[in-house]
Amino acid sequence: VETTFSIIKPDAVKRNLIGSIYQRFEAAGLKLVAVKMIQLDQAKAAGFYAEHLGRPFYEPLIDFMTSGPIVVQVLQGENAIAKNREIMGKTNFEEAEPGTIRADFASSVRENCVHGSDSVESAQREIAYFFSADEIF
Ligand code: ATP
Ligand code: MG
Repeated sequence: VETTFSIIKPDAVKRNLIGSIYQRFEAAGLKLVAVKMIQLDQAKAAGFYAEHLGRPFYEPLIDFMTSGPIVVQVLQGENAIAKNREIMGKTNFEEAEPGTIRADFASSVRENCVHGSDSVESAQREIAYFFSADEIF
């Protein structure tokens, strides 16, 4: 089985969508094996999104991601990385398949409710960025 890293972003936390999103993970057979609510500071957010440094959407993204609490989780299941990306839908909610989290809940390209790792390498790095081994069950 595979594990992946997921964030419920500040827009979704503010709009009381945590339960609806967890429902979708669990219904798809993705098991929550680590969970916490945190607030990112600028440095922690900048480190997480370092790959996007210099892109036009980078600074507003950091401001958005530090604008309120987020929920971070590790999801475990068969093909968890691809399955989670599928449930999330495309980055641009207007292009996302109906029934995906972003199609149903996102309010803009930036405020798109969720993050999910895009490869085995990024999943490992992102999990380690937020969780210690004893926090993962
Ligand atoms: P994530 O990494 O959050 O799972 P993603 O892999 O679908 O999303 P990325 O290209 O990695 O998308 O972009 C990271 C995040 O930056 C997006 O989820 C979105 O919040 C924001 N973002 C990306 N492109 C744009 C854009 N053109 N305009 C505004 N915000 C954007
Ligand atoms: Mg990404």
